[in-house]
Parts: sequence; structure tokens; C-alpha cells
Amino acid sequence: MSSIIHLLPDHVANQIAAGEVVQRPASVVKELLENAVDAQATSITLVVKDGGKSLIQVVDNGTGMGDTDARLSFERHATSKINTAEDLFRLQTKGFRGEALASIAAVAHVEMKTKLETDDIGTHLIVEGSAIVQQEPCVTPVGTSIAVKNLFFNIPARRNFLKSTTVEQKHVIDEFQRVALVHPSIAFKLIHNGSELFQLPSSNLRQRVVGVMGSKTNQKWVPVNEETDLIKLTGFVGKPEFAKKSRGEQFFFVNDRFIKHPYLHHAVSNAFEGLLKDKAYPSYFLYLQVDPKSIDINIHPTKTEVKFDNEHAIYSILRSSVKHSLGQFSVAPVLDFNKDSSMELEYTKHKSKAKLPSIDVDRNFNPFEAEKDSTFSKKKHSHSIPSKTNSHWEALYTEKEFDENILNIEVESETVSPQLFQSKDFGYDSSGTFQLQRKYIITSTKSEMIIIDQHRAHFRILYEELLKNITAQPALSQQLLFPLKLQLDTNELRVFKILKASLSNAGFSISEVGEDFVTINGIPNRLPESETSILLDQLLSDFDNDIPDSGFEQTDRLAKSLAKGMAIKNGTLLQKEEQTELVNLLFSCKEPMLTPLNRLVFVKQSAADFDKKFM
Ligand code: ADP
Ligand code: MG
Repeated sequence: MSSIIHLLPDHVANQIAAGEVVQRPASVVKELLENAVDAQATSITLVVKDGGKSLIQVVDNGTGMGDTDARLSFERHATSKINTAEDLFRLQTKGFRGEALASIAAVAHVEMKTKLETDDIGTHLIVEGSAIVQQEPCVTPVGTSIAVKNLFFNIPARRNFLKSTTVEQKHVIDEFQRVALVHPSIAFKLIHNGSELFQLPSSNLRQRVVGVMGSKTNQKWVPVNEETDLIKLTGFVGKPEFAKKSRGEQFFFVNDRFIKHPYLHHAVSNAFEGLLKDKAYPSYFLYLQVDPKSIDINIHPTKTEVKFDNEHAIYSILRSSVKHSLGQFSVAPVLDFNKDSSMELEYTKHKSKAKLPSIDVDRNFNPFEAEKDSTFSKKKHSHSIPSKTNSHWEALYTEKEFDENILNIEVESETVSPQLFQSKDFGYDSSGTFQLQRKYIITSTKSEMIIIDQHRAHFRILYEELLKNITAQPALSQQLLFPLKLQLDTNELRVFKILKASLSNAGFSISEVGEDFVTINGIPNRLPESETSILLDQLLSDFDNDIPDSGFEQTDRLAKSLAKGMAIKNGTLLQKEEQTELVNLLFSCKEPMLTPLNRLVFVKQSAADFDKKFM
């Protein structure tokens, strides 16, 4: 019986394999750039035409190849990077399969010029659909230049599948950035259709991040550094106020490879919890170095997933390090990317003194328990007498994750007693509250269920209180251990000066107004120190273009902006006592129904409505 199994001809086998490695122009870009990095280039130029559909060329000044190697490099499984299977576990290079050039050559027209430093003459090779069609000596500088033209010329179905030039170009840029971001010491250039999109000189990591992301962004990053037995973590996270509405700037690199990792992404997002505005995404560039043995890196060439042995531990380290950095640095308005690192160290030390307990937080910490013992002794230093009804105030307004300074917050002596309203005016039973989805507080009256939006309720409460403070008696403020210096641009400073008096009344104690900065010694009670700069930035931009003349409208806008920024966020877990306080205080407001921006604070559902449903 004749055999029906046969070996595929090489060029067919190669095309199939190419499908795995080369999916679009960006895949070629990735492979060629990585080869140039592996060849120890110090300068790499990428030239692309039509999103890479007509040309992708990478020119490097790396080691180059001799004429035999130049030929061999296009053979499948031809690599200079590993010899034995064990080498896979101590990879120092990007490539190791020896498949990329073979795959690319199977589906495109490839032209290579390469020369070793020790050779006088280089090699010029032309490969089309896996076949070497020309090889000759040539004059060329040390290093390698590879041009890939007419991608998928021999697989029309794949070629038609390519997206528009703009889309492919975007993918190309993504790959370029991912490589450039891990090799700041290498100079990179990207030229698309004749125009230079990136010119990145050899630099340090911060300058590279800024270079890749655009020069205006150097104020938005705070450094993250951590070293444990498991990982070494470096990089930057974006200050929360610069958070984007899109996920564009999220980068993880593990042992110098870009990866996507939803679980670790979650760790970072978690560290930002409560700091971001709705629908904003944190930006980060985080570089993890781990023992190569502890990850599975022998993954599919086009995939970017990595499997860690110690995923949970890495999760916690990542989360607490990012949190720590945000706590330490988010109050620092400017991070000078050109500053030398010794200065940065001093700064770090200095700041960490001020905000000691910003990590290692006991999530089960209950402020009410603490209050019973330690809090009162600390409160001796506070000037006001806590009244019975607002003894839980500070707990309501503090982010438990911040620091123990929160326990020092002074409480106001003058209040309306919310208890008065209970049962008499509203008849609700605030003791029977519960929280739904960390967003709604549910309480009831005799005949109705009341569903309160926690953020909006707090917005209303703070607004009325601030309004009173700004207009009638100045609010109490908490003194900062280290004054906060905020860097402001001309416009922000202009706005700040106009609002200065009102801000003082609201509890900001302003010690200095410089040419491009202000110094703040004290901030309103209940405002966590780490949120101050975010809040003020927001405030100044709220007033940016139109500042009402002094008078009620200005005060009103200021109170609205501050209250909105200070109000507890949805997603915050509230303890029973906090829920009760919120309900009580809301119903002692003048206008509990609506937020200062006229949105509904609560809705009611009557027992009669329920009766109907159960008919
Ligand atoms: P891999 O990178 O997995 O080894 P490739 O097919 O990408 O496989 O490359 C095959 C070999 O060709 C590499 O191992 C390397 O020796 C050589 N090579 C490829 N590109 C370059 C380059 N730009 N400079 C010097 N050598 C290169
Ligand atoms: Mg390679």
C-alpha cells in the first residue's frame, strides 16, 4: 500500500511556521529590533513605509555577521544564542529560537547587508520566499541592515487581512516603544514614510520614559523602587491626577521583556484605589527582574504572557510598592527627570520620614476600636473638644489606608446635632443601615426604604460645611509636619492668588507664594495629606478659564470643587458607624435631596410599592 504521509516541501513548512511568528508588520519590527539589541548595537534605526506593509528596515551598529553566518541566519532553528536546553533557563538574549529570520524570509522579500568589525568587506544577501537569490560581497559599515519588503507577497490571503496603514503603523509604534523602553542606553530612531517620529538618544530610564511618552510629561511620574529576595522592581507610575481615560500607558517588563499580565495589572490598579477619578486608568512603567528560573519564558513568540512561580507574592510586593510610592511622592509636585540620582535619594529619605506608615496597612483596622484607647490620648493635643455627636467624624472622613496622622485630626466643636432630626423630622431609622456595592447606603423610615448615594451624600455634607467655613468662621486646619511645596504654572498661580483668601478660610494655611510655587503649611481637617496636591490641581483647573469675581459665586465654586474632591469615593467600604454618621449628617443638611451640582442624593421606595410587587 502506498504511503499517504509525506514531508512538506521546505518552503511550505516555512510559510506555516511563519504564520506563528509573523502576523503583521509589527511582528517583523519586534524580531528585527530584538536581534539588533541582542547584537549589542548602541544605535538602532527603524525605517517603515505604509505601516510596514511596503518596507520595514532596521539598521544597527551591532556585531554584524560574517558571510557564512549571514546565510545561516535564514535557516530555521539556526541561532547563535543557545546551545543546550539548559541555556533556556539562563537566557540573556531576546531571541533563542532561531526562527524569526527564517519565518520572515518565507513570506517577504528580504535584503541584508552586514559586516563584522574584523572584516574589511561585508556581505549582501537577497532572500525571497526562503530562497537565497543573491549573495555577494559589499561595502557596508560594521553592523547589520535588514530590509523587509512586500510582506506576505506570496500569501495574498494574509496580505489582504492586514489592516489600514494607520492601524498597522500604530502596532509598529507600540512594538518600537516596548523595545525602546527597556533599553534606554541604546539610541533609537523611528522614521515613518520619511518623517521622524522618534529620536531617542542614549539616556537614563526616566529620560527614556519621557522621550517615549512626550516631553510634556516629565512632571507626572513618581518613581517606584523595591528589592526583595523574589524581585527587583523599578520604574514609574503616573500621578493619579494625570491618569488617562484610555489604557495607553501601561507597561510591564519582566527581565527586559514587555508582558501583559492582567493579575499584576490588578495589583497596580488596586494600589491606585480611591485615587483615580471615574473611568480613569493608571499609567505605569514597571520593570521586574526575577530569577529566570522562576518564570516560564519559553512562550509563544508572538504572545506576551509570562507565568510566574510566585504570583501571589509578586502581587503583594507590587501593590504595596506602588502604594508606597504614591503616598510618598504624590504630594511632590515636580519630579525632575534630569536630576541626578543622589539627590533623589535624599529626597526619598526626607519624605519617608514625613509619611512613615503609608504601607503595611492592616485592612481590617477599625478606627472605632482605635478610638477607644489610643486616639483619645493623641487628641489631647487638639484644640477643640469633640462633641458627642461627631465623635465618629474623623473616622468617616479618613482613608484608613493613609497614615496615622489621621488619628490626630481635630474635630469641630460646633455642630448641629443630627440626633435631633432622627425620628422627629424624618422618622428614619439610621441604626438599620447597610451598604450595597460599596456605593449605596440603604436605610429606612416606617414606610419607606431610602437609598443614598454615599459619594453624593458626602459631597453635600462637605459642601455645606465648607461654605459655612469660608464665609463665616475659618475652618480648622491640620498642620503639616513638612510644608508642602506645589509647583504651579503661570496660569495656575494666577488663579491661586485670586482664591488665596478663600482657601485660607477653607483651612489651607499658605505660608509662601513664590514665582512658580506655593508653600502650604496646613490643610483642612479630614483632607488626607497625600490627596492635597491632587485636590488643588483639580481646583485650579476647575477655575482655569473663568474665575468669578470675589463674592458668593467664587466661594460657592470653591466649596463645590473642594467638597467634590474630598468626598468619599464610591467603592469605599463604610463601617456601620460610618454609615450611620453619613445618614445623620446628610439629613441635618439644608438640602439633603440634591448635590451642589443638582444631582439626586437619594431615592425612596415606599412599602406600598413593595406590596404591589408581591401581589
Ligand atoms: P534568534 O534571534 O532566535 O537566534 P533569528 O532568526 O532572529 O533567531 O536570528 C538568527 C541568528 O542570526 C541570530 O542567532 C544571530 O546570530 C543572527 N542575527 C540576526 N540578526 C542579527 C543582527 N542584527 N546582528 C547580528 N546577528 C544577527
Ligand atoms: Mg531573533
